[in-house]
Parts: sequence; structure tokens; C-alpha cells
Amino acid sequence: MNVTTGAGQADEMLGSPVIAKVGVIGAGQMGNGISHVCALAGLPVVLLDVKADALARAMATMDRNLERQVARTVISAEDKAAALARITTSTDYAAFGDCDMVIEAATEKEDVKRLIYKALTPHLRPSCIVASNTSSISITRLGASTDRPEKFIGMHFMNPVPVMKLVEIIRGIATDEPTFQAVQVLARRLNKTSTVSEDFPAFIVNRILVPMINEAVYALYEGVGSVVGIDTAMKLGANHPMGPLELGDFIGLDTCLSIMQVLHEGLADSKYRPCPLLVKYVEAGWLGRKTGRGFYDYSQTPPRPTR
Ligand code: NAD
Repeated sequence: MNVTTGAGQADEMLGSPVIAKVGVIGAGQMGNGISHVCALAGLPVVLLDVKADALARAMATMDRNLERQVARTVISAEDKAAALARITTSTDYAAFGDCDMVIEAATEKEDVKRLIYKALTPHLRPSCIVASNTSSISITRLGASTDRPEKFIGMHFMNPVPVMKLVEIIRGIATDEPTFQAVQVLARRLNKTSTVSEDFPAFIVNRILVPMINEAVYALYEGVGSVVGIDTAMKLGANHPMGPLELGDFIGLDTCLSIMQVLHEGLADSKYRPCPLLVKYVEAGWLGRKTGRGFYDYSQTPPRPTR
């Protein structure tokens, strides 16, 4: 692991704002991964959630994931200790007062994100950049709901964040060039490769990936194959590292459904219709790994198909 700490001067020379302290909103699977990589890259991080227990769980997850990197000699025990020491947690937006950038990674619901920005922005410096890790929602629309559309941008990390190399960067129509440059510099500092996507529903990765998962749920719903049959077919037949149903469970079926709804509404094309079986799983609270049950039951070893 290349732990960089001195990127500030180079950023300043490029004329983009220097990001020296980061806030992260949402301590779920993405928020803890984003905090992990920022802290490991030398940045102080404030992690916020509405639920105090989510913050405690996120700290325990980061400890475990950093330990795994130590065991694989990707980082040293000192790197791990220093990274954890850079992270503080809070349930109060006032803790973001000295951040240069806040990355929102809360639940994939537009109304939730809008309420967060409303509560957040009065606490921020005027220069603070606000990024959303949204998987699908319009960056232009989210930015317009804030007091700083020109400093609002999409920074879409992949799951699991410490492992996946890509970050998609999405400019809203109002996003200014220094903000775009600053986020590209940050992505490099985090050791990620960035691609730029135009602000269309679900951007590049999820425009292609999530309809495939939805199609796999249709194949299950219509009886084309079983859970194991569909996943094995795509792993061995298309050389995918995970089957689509396993991947849906990993992403979170609520997140997959929200993305399909954004595609369906945003592009007004029936080919993006969410599968009724996906809707039913979400209504049942069977959201995948994070709730212990989705297309597989994770209380069993190995996980057992639920249909
Ligand atoms: P998650 O359900 O694991 O975590 C969401 C967190 O947000 C929870 O801890 C919840 O308590 C918190 N939250 C909800 N309302 C809040 C509020 N008002 N203020 C502060 N915190 C609040 O979800 P996730 O998978 O981490 O996804 C988060 C975001 O990242 C979503 O926008 C999602 O689309 C995006 N994303 C997810 C993936 C993925 O594979 N899961 C990949 C890329 C991007």
C-alpha cells in the first residue's frame, strides 16, 4: 500500500482546492469503506450516522478489514493504528465544520439525501465540496437542492471500497472545474482509477450491471433456472467472479431496487421494469448479506439458496 500524505502542495499548484480533512455521512458498508481508504491515505476523517450503533459497527468493521490487510502484508500494523487514529465519529453535523470535503454515503433514497444536505450545509465552510456516493440519482438534481451546486459532485466508489480500483466521477451541470479537479486529485491520492460519467441515471457501471442482476431475478421468477443454476451459469459461462444473485445480495437488494426504479423513471423505458420478485424480497426485508437473508440464507455455512 502506497500511503501518501503530502499531496496538498501539488493540488494547490494545480489551482484546485486542497482536501486535507474529509467528512463521511452514512456508516453502512460504503461509508465505512470510504472512511477506511481516506484514513489510510493520511486524511483525518469524521464519520457520521443517525444511528450510534451503526458507527460502532463501522469502527469494528474497519478494524477487521485493516487487520486483514496487515495479515496479507499490504499495510503494516503501524499503518493500521495510524489510520484508525485518524477517524472520529459523530452524530452531529457540527463535527464537519473544518472539513474540506464531505462525502455522503447514506441510504439510496432521494428524500433522505435531500434532508441530509439541508441539515448539513449550514455547518460547512463556504469552500467545502459536497460529494454524493449515490449509485444512480441525478447529481444535477441533488446539487440543486443544496446551497452550493457548483461545489457538488458525484464520487461513486465501488464495493468493497478498499479492494475495488474504480471511482466514477460525475459532474452535475453546475459543477465547477476546480471541484472536478480536486476530486480527481483525491481519487489518485486514494490509489483509485477514475472514469468520468455524464449525469445520466445510474451512470456507467450500474446502468449496465444492475439491469443484469434484475434480469437474473426475472430468470429465477420465470423458472428459467434455480438460484444456484443461475449463479453457476454466469460464473462458469461468462467468467464472472460472482453470480448475479450473489452479487445482488452483496450490493443490497434495496439498493438494487432503488437503482432499477431510478432507471425506469429516469429513462422511461419498460426494459428497466424492476422484477416483481425483487420488489417482494425488499418488502419482506430480505435485503441480502446485510440482513442475513436475500437470495441466500447467510446463517448457514455455506449460504443456502432461499428458493
Ligand atoms: P447501507 O444501508 O449499508 O448504509 C446506509 C447508512 O446510511 C446506514 O448506516 C444508515 O443508518 C445511514 N443513514 C440513513 N439515513 C441517514 C441520515 N439521515 N443521516 C445519516 N446517516 C443515515 O447502504 P450502502 O450500501 O452503504 O449505500 C450507501 C450509498 O452508497 C447509497 O447511495 C448507495 O447507492 C451507494 N453505493 C452502494 C454500493 C453497494 O454496493 N452497496 C456501491 C456504490 C454506491
